[in-house]
Amino acid sequence: MSSAQPASSFDAIVIGAGLSGIYQLHKLRQLGLSVRVLEAGAGVAGTWYWNRYPGARCDSTAECYQYWFSDELLNEWNWSERFPAQPETERYLNYVADKFDLKRDIQFHTRVNAASFDEAAGRWHITTTGGEQFSAQFLVMATGGLSSPQVPAFKGYENFKGTSVHTARWPHEAVDFAGKRVGVMGTGATGIQVIQTIAPQVGHLTVFQRTATYAIPMKNPKYDAARMAELRQSYPEMKSLVHNTFTGNDYDFGTVLFQDLTPAQREARLWEFWHDGSLKFWVGAFGELFADQAVNDYVSDFVRARIRERVKDPVVAEKLCPKDYGFGTRRVPLETNYFEVYNQPNVQLVDTTADPIECFTENGIKTASGEHQLDMMIFATGFDAATGALTAIDVRGRDGLLLRDSWRQDGVRTWMGLQVHGFPNMFMIMAPLSPAAAFCNVPTCSQQQADWISNCIDYTRKHGKQSIEPTADAEARWGEHHDELANATLVPKTKSWYMGTNIEGKQQRLLAYVGGASTYRLACDKIAEEGYPESVFS
Ligand code: NAP
Repeated sequence: MSSAQPASSFDAIVIGAGLSGIYQLHKLRQLGLSVRVLEAGAGVAGTWYWNRYPGARCDSTAECYQYWFSDELLNEWNWSERFPAQPETERYLNYVADKFDLKRDIQFHTRVNAASFDEAAGRWHITTTGGEQFSAQFLVMATGGLSSPQVPAFKGYENFKGTSVHTARWPHEAVDFAGKRVGVMGTGATGIQVIQTIAPQVGHLTVFQRTATYAIPMKNPKYDAARMAELRQSYPEMKSLVHNTFTGNDYDFGTVLFQDLTPAQREARLWEFWHDGSLKFWVGAFGELFADQAVNDYVSDFVRARIRERVKDPVVAEKLCPKDYGFGTRRVPLETNYFEVYNQPNVQLVDTTADPIECFTENGIKTASGEHQLDMMIFATGFDAATGALTAIDVRGRDGLLLRDSWRQDGVRTWMGLQVHGFPNMFMIMAPLSPAAAFCNVPTCSQQQADWISNCIDYTRKHGKQSIEPTADAEARWGEHHDELANATLVPKTKSWYMGTNIEGKQQRLLAYVGGASTYRLACDKIAEEGYPESVFS
């Protein structure tokens, strides 16, 4: 399509048809707006569409990781297990999209490369890589927090004759690992799932680990009809509960204090939460671990002891024990037989801090100690989190200000992770400086943000206004509040995608708001009730 072609005009454009985007579409359509969702993939589901690598699985419980807006949907949909695998969540999101007839307003295979605000017209102009043009009064970036995959640059990579793939760009066709020499780089939540899943299938597995990971063994019982009936009874209570906890799950910080317990009681409490087999251990056992180094050390020791129990070779066990950061200060994954993988004779762990990667060769990877021969290389190397998908698009606000440049020069700034001063009528879900960017069960916080955005757009229209934009002062206050809370925790001491340290040149600052999902929701609700006092309407 040529650029001379007239733009297709809508009340709102939503970018991204993941969990957030399709719900946003549903909400805005309910208000009577004309909406078009633009999605780069061939189907809905966002993260659950792209991340189809072996072993991809949710580590929030199914009963918390769902939509709450339709009782009919809650009654119809049956989850098959506590932590569903990727195909099931992808099926669920397709089911929702079909049930609410959402796909007719979603344009697939459409990647947005630019969006600019025309102040005179009070509209956003959106262009795609295919040259299509759209125009809309409101723009919602439902582009995902972990959707911009990163492959590190390595010398000689172009010489490698084997196949290589990033986990977030996994092919739709089945991959045969039988007899293959496979390398996996990355031991975060993704790498762990891939490694534990393919280890029994491959000829030989080489894991390139730069940072060891604390992980909790997952308990994943099947859900039968009786269990689903029981869960359905709890849904009304759970729907409210998840919006009233720190992480948007159905558990919260405990009220029991570490200092009030004897050593035996502390140990017993850790075991009790450990046996739950969920991320409840992370926040529920001793919430003080996020701010109190002594408590953190105690819990970290407990988790390291669990690793040592499972890995036979003590040298390998030590490599797998994180030593340079505290438990919970970076994302804690759930795992199934992950540590036992390293007891297999065909699995080799390469600690790339002690044995650094020098280059790729035709046949594999050369580290200081020698060449590792590989037929296939899997990069589980993560994402440019929270900001990456937003800065990948040329987003221009008032006076042509480019969001990417503004964030690079002055640091990331958002007002409550929902809007940016200078970018009227642009809203974001899972963006930086909101809990949704990292510290919240995604469905809880993305539904909360999409609800808030819909209400804000409705308010703006009903009051006869063209646009809404946070003031620079309000945005600065939010940034200061965010930093103050962040710096009171141990999280900024640890290198991770939470802090932007995984991306060269990225500002090092906690990307997600640590005030808690429930506190954040109350603050958002108050602002709406008071008529958006921190924003300017025009
Ligand atoms: P990640 O946590 O950022 O992990 C990336 C891994 O790649 C790290 O081990 C990192 O090492 C390594 N890496 C990156 N560059 C490297 C290099 N140049 N050399 C050696 N190693 C390198 O990414 P992720 O595992 O994809 O997970 C991202 C987030 O997605 C998770 O934290 C979670 O929020 C979400 N997720 C959720 C689930 C689930 O629900 N079950 C599953 C997967 C992912 P360093 O640590 O040293 O940087």
